[in-house]
Amino acid sequence: KPAVIGLTGGIGSGKSTVAKMFGALGVHWVDADIVAREVVEPGSPALARIAEHFGDHILQPDGNLDRAALRTIVFRDANEREWLEALLHPTIRDELARQLQPDHYDLPYVLLVSPLLLETDQHTLATSAIVVDVPVETQIDRTMSRDDNDREQVERIIAAQMPREHRLSRADYVIRNDQPLAEVEKQVQELHKQLLDSCRG
Ligand code: ATP
Repeated sequence: KPAVIGLTGGIGSGKSTVAKMFGALGVHWVDADIVAREVVEPGSPALARIAEHFGDHILQPDGNLDRAALRTIVFRDANEREWLEALLHPTIRDELARQLQPDHYDLPYVLLVSPLLLETDQHTLATSAIVVDVPVETQIDRTMSRDDNDREQVERIIAAQMPREHRLSRADYVIRNDQPLAEVEKQVQELHKQLLDSCRG
C-alpha cells in the first residue's frame, strides 16, 4: 500500500497548483474539497440524513444540497454545526481513505490535498505533511484576483484559518510558493525524489 502524504496550506496558498505539479510526475492525489462535495451528492446516505434533520427546504429543486442555506444555518447555530460535522467528518474521512488506495498504482506514495488536513482528524490518514507556504500578503493578492473577492472578505477567511506560523510548525516538508512557477516545479521535483526514497524505505 502506498504511504499517504498530506498537502495543505491556507486559502490561495497554491495547494491545487502544487498538487497538479505532483500529478504531472505521475503522483495520484485526492482533493478533500471534491470528496466533501461527493459525499453529499443526490442519492447519498449523508444527504438523506441532512434532509431528514433540516427538512426538505435544505434541498434545491433539482435535488442538490442548498449549500448557501446550510451555511447560513450552521453559521448561526453552533449545535447544528456540531451535528453536521459529526455526520460529515467521518463520512469524508472514510471516502478519502478509500480513494487514497487505488487498485493499480506503482509509486510508493499518494497525496491527500486538503485545506483542513491539520484542523481535522484528516491528518491521521497521512504519515507526514507538506505545507505550501506563501506570505499572507501574497495569499490575499492571489485569492482576491482569483475569486474576485474583496480584501476584507479574504482577510476574514484567513483569520479563521490556522495561523501561518502554527501551520509551518507542523510541517514535515515545505514548498515555498512565493516564486515563479518554474522554481516551484523544481522544489516539487526535488521533494518527489526525497519522498520516493523515504517511502520506499
Ligand atoms: P484554495 O484553498 O482557495 O482552493 P489553493 O491553495 O488551491 O487555493 P491555488 O488555487 O492553487 O491555491 O492558487 C491560488 C491562485 O494563485 C491561483 O489563481 C493560482 O493560479 C495562483 N498561483 C499559485 N501559485 C502561483 C505562483 N507560484 N505564481 C503565481 N501565481 C500562482
